[in-house]
Amino acid sequence: MTQQRVTQLHLETRHGGQRCTAITVFNLVEGELETYHLGPNTKLLLCAGAATPQLLYEHREKLDNMEIGEHVNDHILLPLGIYLLPDELQVTLKDQYVSLFATTEEFSTDDGHGEPTICNFDFFSGQLDVLLYLVSHLFLAFWVPNWLKFWMIRNPRLFQCLKQVSRGLVSVFNSLDDLLWSIFHPSKMGKHQWNLISAIVKFNIAREGFYKPQSDTKTPAKEEPKRYEIILRCFEKASLEQDPDFRVAKTAITRQIPLMDSLGAKPHPFFQFLIRLLTRMPYKTQQVEDYIKHYSRYDLLTEQHLSGGCVFGQAIDLGQESSQDTGKVLGSENIYVADLSASPLPRVSPQMTAYLIGHHVATQLCRRD
Ligand SMILES: Cc1cc2nc3c(=O)[nH]c(=O)nc-3n(C[C@H](O)[C@H](O)[C@H](O)COP(=O)(O)OP(=O)(O)OC[C@H]3O[C@@H](n4cnc5c(N)ncnc54)[C@H](O)[C@@H]3O)c2cc1C
Repeated sequence: MTQQRVTQLHLETRHGGQRCTAITVFNLVEGELETYHLGPNTKLLLCAGAATPQLLYEHREKLDNMEIGEHVNDHILLPLGIYLLPDELQVTLKDQYVSLFATTEEFSTDDGHGEPTICNFDFFSGQLDVLLYLVSHLFLAFWVPNWLKFWMIRNPRLFQCLKQVSRGLVSVFNSLDDLLWSIFHPSKMGKHQWNLISAIVKFNIAREGFYKPQSDTKTPAKEEPKRYEIILRCFEKASLEQDPDFRVAKTAITRQIPLMDSLGAKPHPFFQFLIRLLTRMPYKTQQVEDYIKHYSRYDLLTEQHLSGGCVFGQAIDLGQESSQDTGKVLGSENIYVADLSASPLPRVSPQMTAYLIGHHVATQLCRRD
C-alpha cells in the first residue's frame, strides 16, 4: 500500500503476551481511516524509522516494556571551514563528497579516561559552481535563524524559497569575487574559478535522548497519530565549557585545523570576514570555542541520523535463544522491529546499518531451525 499512514496498533492480551490484532491506517488519498484485522498467525513487522517507537510507545505499560522510546541518539554535525584548493589540483565530480573519511578518537575528559567518542570527518571538494547546490544547502543551517528553520522544515514552499535565497547569496559572493578578480588581474579578466574544500565533523551525542508524549491521552480516533517530542540531549549543560559534547567538538576541530590548513589556503581576509560574519567558522584555533558556542545555540544540524527507541536487547529480542524471535518487541507475541530504531547510533553509515538490520531480521524470521 502506498499513500497510507499507520496511525494506531490495536493490542489484545493473550497467553504469550500482547498480540497485535489490528492496525488502523489513514488513507491519504481518500482521507479515510480504515482498520485492518490481522490473521491468527500474522506477524507485524514495523519499519517506520522514527515513527516505530511512536507507534509502540502508548503500549509500553501493557507490554511491560519501558525501554520503548529510550536510548535515542543522533549525530552532532559541525562544518569545519571553507578553504581554497591549490590551482594545480584537478578536482572531479567524484571529489564532491569524498569517499575518504577520517576518523579520530576524542575524550571529553582532560585525563583522556573513559569511553572515547569517535569523530568522523567527511570532506567535500570541487569547483564552487559545481558545489553551489551542496554549499547553499549547508549554508541554510547558518544564515537562517532557528525559529525560521522550525517553519522551514514544516513547509516545503518556505524551504524552496529559502534555498533559492541561499543559492542567490552564494552566487552574489561568487560574482563579487569575479569582479574583484577582474579588477586585480585585468590581464585574466573574466571568471575566477574557485576550487574549494570543506569538511564536516560528526560524532554521537554524549547523553542518550528519548521520546516524550506531548499529552497523556491515548491516540485519538482521527487521522493524525499521537504526537511525540524527540528529546536529544546535546550541548545540554548551561556552562558549555563543562559539557562533554562541547569538549569533544572543541578538541576535534582544534586538532583538525592544521590539517585543513595543509589541504588548502584560507580565503582572502575579506571573504574570511564574510564567511565568519554569517557562520563564525574558525580559521584559527582561538576562534573554535566561540564558533561552537554560537553554533550549538543557533545553527546546530541534527535529526538526520536518528536512531534508537526500540533497541536490540533492551526493547526488542536479540534472537539469541530463538532466531524466529529476532527483533520481536519484548512483551509482544507478534510485533517485530526492523529499522534504525532497533540500533544504537552506528559509527558507520546509518543507512547501511538500517539495510543490514532489515536484512538480518528478515533472514532470521525465515529460518526454519
Ligand atoms: C537529509 C538526510 C541526509 C542523510 N544522509 C545520510 C548519509 O549520507 N549516509 C547515511 O548513511 N545516512 C544518511 N541519512 C540517514 C538515513 O537516511 C537514515 O538513517 C535511514 O534512512 C533510516 O532508515 P529507517 O528504515 O530506519 O527509516 P526511514 O528511512 O525513515 O524509513 C521509514 C519509512 O517509514 C515510513 N513511515 C513513517 N511513519 C509511517 C507510518 N505511520 N505509516 C506508514 N509508513 C510510515 C516513512 O515514510 C519512511 O518511508 C540521512 C538522512 C537525512 C534525513
